[in-house]
Amino acid sequence: MSGPRPRTGVLGGTFDPPHIGHLLAAVNVRHALALDRVLLVVANDPWQKTGTRTVTPAADRLAMVQAAVAGLDGVEASDLELRRGGPSYTVDTLRELAAAEPGGELFVVLGADAAGGLLSWDRAEELPALASLVLVDRPGMVCPPPPEGWAFVRVEIPRVEVSSTDLRARVLDGRPLDFLVPAGVVTCIRDRRLYGFASP
Ligand code: ATP
Ligand code: MG
Repeated sequence: MSGPRPRTGVLGGTFDPPHIGHLLAAVNVRHALALDRVLLVVANDPWQKTGTRTVTPAADRLAMVQAAVAGLDGVEASDLELRRGGPSYTVDTLRELAAAEPGGELFVVLGADAAGGLLSWDRAEELPALASLVLVDRPGMVCPPPPEGWAFVRVEIPRVEVSSTDLRARVLDGRPLDFLVPAGVVTCIRDRRLYGFASP
């Protein structure tokens, strides 16, 4: 930690699987805002997604995120929501992080699509008091400003048109994932036979 008030970025997601879009957001927001670290917080139960599709077990998604950040300075995988269990609410995660590091500053990093859904989050109105919002653009998705009165900054990141949805389809079709996810994540998907991975 570099200063008396540690600055932590929180990039929450399902990470099913993690990809370079997540990593580009993490490293560029960390740099732009001089954050000590960015946590990739793996949702235990992404309640807004369950019911719409089958979500990969949280332990597999955490393993992929750990592989994705291996050797990356200042970007860490967080299992906090897995340890807490149950549906994953960002407000609870922020409270836990704040309690663990009193005096620290928290920054919630959101891609354009996630920013658009902010008001549907559980106890969304409590967020502004807990963290600043950091918005990053995402190709093909319009990033609306957050609700009136919410503090936010925008950070420019390289726009890459990659999504976990597309990557899952790629595995099913046998198309390559190389350069869209770190090599360690490809290995993890292969070893755990995720997304219907079939050996060549
Ligand atoms: P899915 O297609 O399954 O929804 P995803 O690619 O959107 O997966 P998530 O785990 O849902 O990944 O996203 C976690 C966070 O990362 C969200 O805030 C999302 O907006 C952001 N994000 C995902 N992909 C990108 C990208 N290519 N560029 C910028 N931000 C991204
Ligand atoms: Mg998404």
